[in-house]
Amino acid sequence: MPAGCYYTHCYYSGTSENNVTNQGDIDSGSVQRVTVPRSGHVISRANISSSALKVLYRLKEAGFQAYLVGGGVRDLLLGREPKDFDVGTDATPEQVRQLFRNCRLIGRRFRLAHVRFGREIIEVATFRARHDEDTDADRDSARSDEGRILRDNVYGTIEDDVWRRDFTVNALYYDIRDFSVIDYVGGLHDLESGTLRVIGEPEQRFREDPVRMLRAVRFAAKLGFRIDPASETVIQELGYLLEDIPSARLFDEVLKLFLGGCAVATYELLRHYDLFRILFPMTEESLGREEEGFPHTFVLRALENTDQRLAEGKPVTPAFLYAALLWEPMRLRMQELLEDGMSPLEAAQLAGNQITAEQVAVTSLPKRFSFPMREIWTLQPRLERRRGKAPQRTLQHPRFRAAYDFLLLRAEVGEAPEELAAWWTAFQNRDAAEQEPVAAAAPAKKKRRRRRRKRKPAAASDD
Ligand code: ATP
Ligand code: MG
Repeated sequence: MPAGCYYTHCYYSGTSENNVTNQGDIDSGSVQRVTVPRSGHVISRANISSSALKVLYRLKEAGFQAYLVGGGVRDLLLGREPKDFDVGTDATPEQVRQLFRNCRLIGRRFRLAHVRFGREIIEVATFRARHDEDTDADRDSARSDEGRILRDNVYGTIEDDVWRRDFTVNALYYDIRDFSVIDYVGGLHDLESGTLRVIGEPEQRFREDPVRMLRAVRFAAKLGFRIDPASETVIQELGYLLEDIPSARLFDEVLKLFLGGCAVATYELLRHYDLFRILFPMTEESLGREEEGFPHTFVLRALENTDQRLAEGKPVTPAFLYAALLWEPMRLRMQELLEDGMSPLEAAQLAGNQITAEQVAVTSLPKRFSFPMREIWTLQPRLERRRGKAPQRTLQHPRFRAAYDFLLLRAEVGEAPEELAAWWTAFQNRDAAEQEPVAAAAPAKKKRRRRRRKRKPAAASDD
């Protein structure tokens, strides 16, 4: 298990008795607002991105409330580095847009402002009102027959907003006015005990947005938290509701689940709660047909490798991830086609098309990833051809490196011959050695070209 997936220390001090500001009854029950002053917690502005601070301060100066909220506060309190920073405010998205030139409004179901600073995006969400105040006639808020929230754009106060958040540990607010942390829902206590607890009634909250079940698993795996027992049973019962979620949203979630650095822990929890089946039905089915433990080991090994690459700062791609997750169904489909008399390359092509088509109906995969995924697959039979010019051609293929890495994983779990993988390792080394004199000549050429360009007059530079 890579470091960073399990980390349960919580850094804040100060008891609720000392810091309680009793706000009286908030409609859904007796609620206490706990305020932990700056001296009682570990969140320092030095650990908040300067972009997030700019957004918070500009909102404040314009007379709005502005809080850091969500994963940023949670992770800082845990002593972890936040993935991103989210801001909550009473300014409407349009008001936010007027304050920031670098701002775009996104989302129909849940309208948000994205304020961009180079590659960093600060997500600014306007406080949402509570649903029980909504009426069916309200065009800005709507639910499906299953209770799923289809639109959610009725604005409210921080006291309303807190109930709309998913888990108690995600509903802590850091106030830019006095740097205090505000807790309405016992999130600080749950951070301390390592509990992932749904705010409100689990069944209702998971029905409102079934993706929260995936989020529960993701956070539990990443933080090493225990999902509270009341939610556990509901997740096992309501997983099927994810079938109605648009495939594009599930694709986004799949990337967060498996490319967040804790893929192995997440995968194990997904299987435990019977949710993996919903996301990758063909893979789940193939796991049931385990031959000598191979398929299960392959997916696990591939996910281990993903976590390891991320820990080492190496790139990972959705194409490789999907190629690995779907390899076993792909392999079985290829076998069937081979038995029907197809050639290995034809079988790989056709099986690739079929498996991709079936999967994207569940969790979409944009073409820029599905093409390279299929190339990784179709290169597998090509890697078996070692005679004549074939290996050299395979080596030149733009997807060779990924396909070779894929072969190494297959060989590690005993599904491809180790000798084949070793042969390709040696072949590349030999090829690299042969290429060396050419490579050495290349920089000299480049230098000459650069010098020549320098002498050209810089066109229109004086304008
Ligand atoms: P991370 O960014 O580390 O993945 P996060 O908790 O910040 O975790 P985001 O998806 O960035 O997650 O969302 C920010 C916050 O918005 C969450 O902490 C939560 O309070 C709220 N939120 C996001 N998605 C939902 C949802 N589906 N239902 C309810 N609240 C949500
Ligand atoms: Mg976040």
